[in-house]
Amino acid sequence: MTTDDTNGRFGGYGGQYVPEALMPAIEELRDAYERYVLHNEDGFMDELRAHLADFGGRPTPLQRADQLSERYDTEVYLKREDLLHGGAHKLNNALGQVLLAKYMGKERIIAETGAGQHGTATAMAAAHLDMPAEIFMGETDIERQRPNVFRMELNGATVTPVTTGRGTLKEAISETMRDWATNVEDTHYVIGSIVGPDPFPEMVRDFQSVIGDETHEQILAKTGDTPDSIVACAGGGSNTMGAFHEFRDKEDVDLIAVEAGGSSLEVDEEAGVAPNSATLSTGEEGVLHGARTKLLQDEDGQIMESHSVSAGLDYSGVGPELAYLVDTGRVEAVNVDDKTALESFHRVSRLEGIIPALETAHAFGYLEENPDAVGDVTVVNVSGRGDKDLESVVEETKERDLDVETASSVLQEAKE
Ligand SMILES: *Cc1c(COP(=O)(O)O)cnc(C)c1O
Repeated sequence: MTTDDTNGRFGGYGGQYVPEALMPAIEELRDAYERYVLHNEDGFMDELRAHLADFGGRPTPLQRADQLSERYDTEVYLKREDLLHGGAHKLNNALGQVLLAKYMGKERIIAETGAGQHGTATAMAAAHLDMPAEIFMGETDIERQRPNVFRMELNGATVTPVTTGRGTLKEAISETMRDWATNVEDTHYVIGSIVGPDPFPEMVRDFQSVIGDETHEQILAKTGDTPDSIVACAGGGSNTMGAFHEFRDKEDVDLIAVEAGGSSLEVDEEAGVAPNSATLSTGEEGVLHGARTKLLQDEDGQIMESHSVSAGLDYSGVGPELAYLVDTGRVEAVNVDDKTALESFHRVSRLEGIIPALETAHAFGYLEENPDAVGDVTVVNVSGRGDKDLESVVEETKERDLDVETASSVLQEAKE
């Protein structure tokens, strides 16, 4: 099978559901994506690879996790995207898009951000490539994510508060789209995951697929074979597809996407709230942010608020390609709840000396709950590091009785 569908369609998903005013920008971007990314015109991909190496620190290692391997009686390898500059996989895409904007002759970068991770990666890439950047962020999120606002501003970006609606990611995306429609001539909109109108899902996947390309080479060098499975957490799905894409035609490699099960898979239709972000497992087809995909929505098609203990997975939609690959059975969608993710955060930190992002902790949570489902050799994509999550881990630990073995006096105090 192949995922290389034409015109940005993945089965019935994908497409370009955007206002007329944006069509010229979208078409210009598709043309640039084909020329520079797919055909390496003017040596674009060579320059990108050089930035990823010298500025980003690629290739990231593939490391055998000795303690986890012993615990699960399975060879566990970790793809260390947490070691990429900025501490997460997001820079792969941000660098790719900011550089592409330069090749397109654009003079200004805009982006939206929820928790601030994508905004931070974009601000870093823009500073590195000497482009001015404006990051739209919901007012509520600005309050919740002060350190990331400071990081973006330190890198020279302007952070613009969005005050409409609840002041979170959904409104920030709408505001960024509006800005783009008004300033298409000189501005490029850097979308942060494999979502949005074509060509974004395909293009972001291609920028992230360096993860799987390296993994393939590295696992062959270490074991002489492809792995039995690859496990990655899925919010929008960019680190997932980045890790999976290289292996899409290797049917003996199981591809497992771990969503946020939140506090429950039950939905409160009345309140318009889903206490989870399990879009692939429980969502229905609809249109959001320019693409047809699976969404958390009520019976009237209203988008429901999602929830996850990890901000990066907290999104009501999912990339159209990932939704398609789940429908066709190539990718298995599973979910892990907040509690299991938090416990995994502690366990991996203690056993391996790696503090994973709360997002990544979901992938580890799947391994803990299903050690027999991943085969003899598995790769977990460590999408990011957990330094950004320390405060919320303390907060969340106050609120629940976690089954963790920890020496942390901070956590003991928090519990009392
Ligand atoms: C943003 C983020 C995610 C979720 O985004 P995807 O597009 O689903 O990859 C996962 N892990 C980390 C560390 C993140 O920062």
